[in-house]
Amino acid sequence: MAIVRDGIFLEQNRPNRSQFRVGRRSAVKPVIVVHTAESGTDRAGADPKAENVANFIQTRSTAGSYHLLGDADSIIQLVRFSNEAFQDGTGSNRWAIGISLAMNAADWTSISSSRRDELTDTAAQMASIAADWLVSQGLEAPAARRISKSESDRSSASGFISHAERDPSRRSDPGRNFPWSDFLDRYQLLVSGQRTEDQLARELQRLIGVSADGDIGPISLAALNRNWLGRDETFDASVADTFMNNPALITWVQKRLIELNGAELEPDGEFGAQTERAVIQYLDRSGIVAAESYVSLLETR
Ligand SMILES: [Zn+2]
Repeated sequence: MAIVRDGIFLEQNRPNRSQFRVGRRSAVKPVIVVHTAESGTDRAGADPKAENVANFIQTRSTAGSYHLLGDADSIIQLVRFSNEAFQDGTGSNRWAIGISLAMNAADWTSISSSRRDELTDTAAQMASIAADWLVSQGLEAPAARRISKSESDRSSASGFISHAERDPSRRSDPGRNFPWSDFLDRYQLLVSGQRTEDQLARELQRLIGVSADGDIGPISLAALNRNWLGRDETFDASVADTFMNNPALITWVQKRLIELNGAELEPDGEFGAQTERAVIQYLDRSGIVAAESYVSLLETR
């Protein structure tokens, strides 16, 4: 794990020109834009690149910054998450979080596998720091998936996008060979480790509209069992409609199915045939959904 430096670098070291905007013009979303800083790549041993790039950003005369900047062994917060970093010229600054590795996008295939591991791990650590902050603001952690530019522009967006996909005519970072699946796996482990069963239980209770005490007791179980798939004799169609029309709850279940069972789903808040298949596959091969099965959706890895 990289060391996270104390403080906000560009507040402690005033930049020569403005490198962030105080406050945000739009509400922040759980979307992270991934960059490389194109500052050269350090290939072995102690890695000074994040420190070098932070100093460059402080003194540069053009706009360009990120919220978090990392290298093989350290992470520097340049801009606080509640402010806009100047990380993307296509309009995401107002609602996205920008993270950057102090390396060159073209170097993923020429660095050693241990260096690649360290840098990928730093990227995942930066993403989880950003996710923690989003959760502290009452938002969700970004979903562990890549999203397209048009998806990222939606108000319901959640996930990761490269700077190249935001700005294909001008940028290629973090590179064609950025190890996306390894990065997302590492991020997922960090984030799911941070969401305790208690937090997940409260999250689910808020979604189903029962008192969020973190204890999935008889009331929560009855509500879920009676009203979710409802394939047993206690099925109550009228209340089931309410549940089926709760996109936030459906999205929560879809994300848990992806996290826990690798379900091939888009977490879109719609309970279609694919989601139903994934639920049955995960919960109970017989098609009968038991109350205990819902609790297993709460299990952290
Ligand atoms: Zn970039």
